[in-house]
Amino acid sequence: MESQKKYPRSFSFEFFPPKTEEGIARLRATWQQLAQLKPRFFSVTYGAGGSTRDRTLNAVLDIRDSGCDAAPHISCVGSSLDDISATLELYKANGLRHIVALRGDLPSGTASSGELRYANELVEFIRRTTGDHFHIEVACYPEVHPQARSVHDDLQAFKRKVDAGANGAITQYFFNADAYFRFIDDCEALGISVPIVPGIMPINNFFQMARFSDMCGAEIPRWLRMKMQSYGDDTASIRSFGLDIVTELCDRLLSQGAPGLHFYTMNQAGPASTIWQRLGL
Ligand code: FAD
Repeated sequence: MESQKKYPRSFSFEFFPPKTEEGIARLRATWQQLAQLKPRFFSVTYGAGGSTRDRTLNAVLDIRDSGCDAAPHISCVGSSLDDISATLELYKANGLRHIVALRGDLPSGTASSGELRYANELVEFIRRTTGDHFHIEVACYPEVHPQARSVHDDLQAFKRKVDAGANGAITQYFFNADAYFRFIDDCEALGISVPIVPGIMPINNFFQMARFSDMCGAEIPRWLRMKMQSYGDDTASIRSFGLDIVTELCDRLLSQGAPGLHFYTMNQAGPASTIWQRLGL
């Protein structure tokens, strides 16, 4: 963990772009509440194939115009090089300098996978076409990406993104702090030297999150699943226990040298800000 301790801590919150006017208003209330915590930045996800491009941009500009740093995500799967260039130009023209670059996932059965296959190619493309304009974050996976052939291959894939010019990384969420610490040691051994900020999923709707976790390769420990099941329909207890677990996880990560936290908020301010307050940040 030594290499991570030298980076200044970065706290950030992630949103998805809302579809309706009501969702836009709700998201505004959410980020206005979270802005009081003075995070380093907010980020807004991007649908595969550019399906949310305008909504992502609008949400980012709304946040940015209030004076906070806001980073749009961009993904390459299902997009042509022309589409990607146009998105980058749009981000540049709006004065955005911070992005999160991903491969993305296509819905199953989609025919065209696009011109870039992996996120390292996207990072190379962004650097080749826009130089140092953007601060680029990429994704990484302490519990290994579900499509990776091996732990070794996944680490090499992450290294290629950093070698291509990524400035920092945000992890997939996890509940096992040791997986993160081991991952950081493996990255150090490979000479990966960028801040690797843990992605944190506050537990709000446990069973929905557990289903999603099976798809994205985040492991829900058996003891946690069993404990949550024991609460049945008692959502208050599920949330309260979830807050305890995730606060303890964050506390351990920070006390052992993690360079900040990135919260997957699901567009809700409550759980992330409660964890923040409990951590005394
Ligand atoms: P990559 O780094 O390309 O890796 C994908 C897989 O390919 C891995 O298994 C890797 O090991 C493997 N791989 C890489 N290179 C090679 C190679 N040369 N040969 C063989 N295998 C290789 N998705 C969205 O659609 N929109 C978003 O806004 C979004 N935001 C996210 C934010 C964060 C912080 C995280 C962690 C994920 C996000 N995702 C988003 C999900 C992400 O798109 C998926 O996890 C996707 O499956 C992988 O994206 P990646 O950028 O990590 O891909």
